Amino acid sequence: MVFTLAFGTPSLFGDAGWPWYDFRHSDVVRFVQGGVVKLLRCTPQVSLIANLLFILRVLWASPYTLLGLLIGGVGLCFGGRVRIRGRAIEFYDGGTKWFVHRLPHGQFTLALTLGHTILGQTDASLEISRKHEAVHVAQYERWGPFMLPAYFISSAFMWMTGRQFYRDNPFEREAYDVDGGEHDP
Ligand SMILES: [Zn+2]
Repeated sequence: MVFTLAFGTPSLFGDAGWPWYDFRHSDVVRFVQGGVVKLLRCTPQVSLIANLLFILRVLWASPYTLLGLLIGGVGLCFGGRVRIRGRAIEFYDGGTKWFVHRLPHGQFTLALTLGHTILGQTDASLEISRKHEAVHVAQYERWGPFMLPAYFISSAFMWMTGRQFYRDNPFEREAYDVDGGEHDP
């Protein structure tokens, strides 16, 4: 009896059933349902915007990507290899390895990033440095044509203020925060 007075019976509430069942038809629920429907409807637009932003980032970094494609392309003519991993085109072995090895400190350089290309010595060196280089790819997407000037100005500033020009460079610190290793931009 008490139960009936407090909560009624399913028949008293008609199709809605128990009082808590009414919650399903409340404004709050309608609001949330409407939001979910709107979100689902906008997903194609969200992915379209994401794709457009990605294309802009690729274009923004493209001067360096073209340089990387040129070096990696020449490397391919001399026994080099190429593959795509994540957002980057990776060149290694053959002429690319020869090129990386002859850079300053090249024998200690596993890989270096130019825009959306990564020039590595070997398959293994790219595997080791991939997380680190992915941070540099993101930096190229952010800085575009200003990436290398900003990178070298940062290095020069660190050197002039008595810090390590490579490891204290903020671009490298960001990359080393994600993953360790010894490699150049
Ligand atoms: Zn680095």
